[in-house]
Amino acid sequence: MQDINHDNIHRFNSLICQSDRISIVTHMRPDGDAMGSSTAMYHFLSMLGKKEHRIIVPDPYPAYLDFITSEIPSESISAHSANKQEAEEALANSDLIICLDFNAFHRTDVMAAALEASKAEKVLIDHHIGPDRDKFAVSFSETQISSASELLYHILMAFPQIEGDATRLPAACATALMTGMTTDTNNFANSVYPSTLVMASSLLAAGVDRDNILSELYNRHSESRLRLMGHMMKDLLKITEDGVAYIVLDMETMLKYNVQEGDTEGFVNMPLSIGKVRMSLLLKEEEDRIRVSIRSKRGTSANRCARMFFNGGGHENAAGGCLNKPGDVTSMAEVPEYIEKYTHIYLTEHE
Ligand code: 5GP
Ligand code: MN
Repeated sequence: MQDINHDNIHRFNSLICQSDRISIVTHMRPDGDAMGSSTAMYHFLSMLGKKEHRIIVPDPYPAYLDFITSEIPSESISAHSANKQEAEEALANSDLIICLDFNAFHRTDVMAAALEASKAEKVLIDHHIGPDRDKFAVSFSETQISSASELLYHILMAFPQIEGDATRLPAACATALMTGMTTDTNNFANSVYPSTLVMASSLLAAGVDRDNILSELYNRHSESRLRLMGHMMKDLLKITEDGVAYIVLDMETMLKYNVQEGDTEGFVNMPLSIGKVRMSLLLKEEEDRIRVSIRSKRGTSANRCARMFFNGGGHENAAGGCLNKPGDVTSMAEVPEYIEKYTHIYLTEHE
């Protein structure tokens, strides 16, 4: 972890000390790692005595993550989509902006221009390939790590106020870090490194209630979510001769099963349990585009496929993007053909 060195920690610490107004921002459609790392940062800043710090998300995060943000006052966490003017004023008036779990401003979608324009010093804490280092006063970028939450844990451990003692972290901070790492590793199923287990061990020893985290994350779903999963795996899953599994979820089906944000989390991984499947795609229809999630097995790059054919990117084996409608496809009926054609080209010509 080259970026976690004395100089960078000192500069980050100094920026925090000399800043009054601090904004914490993360990527659009925030997931467990985005909210885990942001929430942990918030509580750490509170511990340092900061008074005017806040989290600004591009759009709302799923309700199942409420349990980690519950100790943040409602006025200190807001969505750009709910109040654009307030969010943009806060970004413009910040002394310091801490960017978590994304590598470039465009990943914050509607907030990108305001981030770019803000005169605030910016700090990056991220685990994606290809960080936009030029935009940041200090960058902590590490790809051989489970999550932004794990990276933040190691950064905080290096702070003089913590000195490697996880029991000094506020409890809500430690819980949020463990939650973000747990969701990004799919509960220790992927991207687990020796450093990940060190983090998990030290947070457990410090008193984090992992059983409660698992119960909040995985045992509170709606009945309709499980029934939707059954329908998807039984009726909607297609597998091509190249070993590409894909599921297209249209708005009508999502309405029928009352799909809420976050409800399909994890479903894209399931087809990888089939031996012959090398790559799995889940496509969800939105008003003007189709969201794409891609997962792949070792030896096949979801990241490159997302970059080349799905207007996106991500990690080697977990990536995402979108298809524009109209643009890449004119109707949902064309989606299967698009997927089969371009994943075939990708796997036969580019892998
Ligand atoms: P998910 O499938 O869970 O939405 O996303 C998986 C990974 O792909 C995430 O770590 C995220 O960073 C990346 N990703 C998702 N959507 C996009 C996108 O539109 N553009 C880029 N560059 N990365 C994405
Ligand atoms: Mn992440």
